[in-house]
Amino acid sequence: MTIDFIAAVLASPVSRRPFDQSTPLALETVTCTAPGPHEVIVEIQAASLCRSDLSVIEGVRAWPMPIIPGHEASGVVEEIGPGVTGFKPGDHVVLVYQAQCGICPCCEDGRPHLCAPGLEANRAGALLSGGPRLSLHGAPVHHHMGLSAFAQKAIVSEHSLVKVDDSVPFDIAALFGCGVLCGAGSILKTGAVQPGESVAIVGTGGVGSSAILGARLAGAERIIAVDLDEGKCASARALGATDTIIGGPDAAGEILELTNGGVNCALESAGNLEAFTTAYDATARGGRVVTLGLVSPETPYPLDIAGHVTSAKSIHGSYMGSCNPQIDIPEFVSLYQSGRFPVDQLISHTMPLKQVNLALERMAASTALRQILHPN
Ligand SMILES: [Zn+2]
Ligand SMILES: [Zn+2]
Repeated sequence: MTIDFIAAVLASPVSRRPFDQSTPLALETVTCTAPGPHEVIVEIQAASLCRSDLSVIEGVRAWPMPIIPGHEASGVVEEIGPGVTGFKPGDHVVLVYQAQCGICPCCEDGRPHLCAPGLEANRAGALLSGGPRLSLHGAPVHHHMGLSAFAQKAIVSEHSLVKVDDSVPFDIAALFGCGVLCGAGSILKTGAVQPGESVAIVGTGGVGSSAILGARLAGAERIIAVDLDEGKCASARALGATDTIIGGPDAAGEILELTNGGVNCALESAGNLEAFTTAYDATARGGRVVTLGLVSPETPYPLDIAGHVTSAKSIHGSYMGSCNPQIDIPEFVSLYQSGRFPVDQLISHTMPLKQVNLALERMAASTALRQILHPN
């Protein structure tokens, strides 16, 4: 039997702002199939906005349309399909933006964030188990990252879920699905920052701010945050940055001066070439550059290969913070519960789902950290 629920549907990309006036997302009643084998229907309790939702809205990266964005969320299992053994109705879950099939070479060697079938399903706007399973007026609607969480409910693969303790507030649990995983993971896992090292974080939105918390957890001695916005720099200091620098062509030079030759690890978390250049130039000889912002695929980076060799820097792409969600999310949750990982400080706004276009505009204007939508 099918079920109907309200979801925020993007018919086609919209770049005209402000988004609260151009209203790229329309609340529609969509129809969802009954859960098939290894599928689960989740009642969404909290869904937060991430910058990659914006790249879907603006069409920076091509996605099949129409689509329901939203890939950072938490909820309660409502119904399970045949063959689901790890979850039951009533379980509290974090939704993870790439399903892990468990049997591909990357899943088998402990790198499920690189799961090829999971990535392929995402690109097709489907679930790991197939689809699309959603429709509007009889026409298919695509899934974003296997989740489509800007909705009252989501139908997902069981491999897109991580169970969490009922005591974790839903608003907090949602953050672990993308922003915290990517931000803190980029420092702790991809960059493997060690106690006493120096770190620069270029771009301090939600993910960059999570990276600051990650750098604190790693025991970094110096945490230099770079952002174009003075307000974001102030938030970065509140989260634990030891120094802040206003972004621009001189930012890398200032970091080299502050650190006497560069940081051990620099993170680009702004999604543009200028930020990557700052991170690269601010990295000390022998250091690590980590990049996670989604720079437009049309923007190549001119690399001085000889200089790269002699400086012995390494560049690491960080997808899903190089995390294994089934292991790392419960670990991050217990660090939050112990008070050592105050991710609640990342939440700047909470609002009902019907205000999603206003939230998009805040994100585009860089006047928010993490914004939580409540669909129910
Ligand atoms: Zn995200
Ligand atoms: Zn896999």
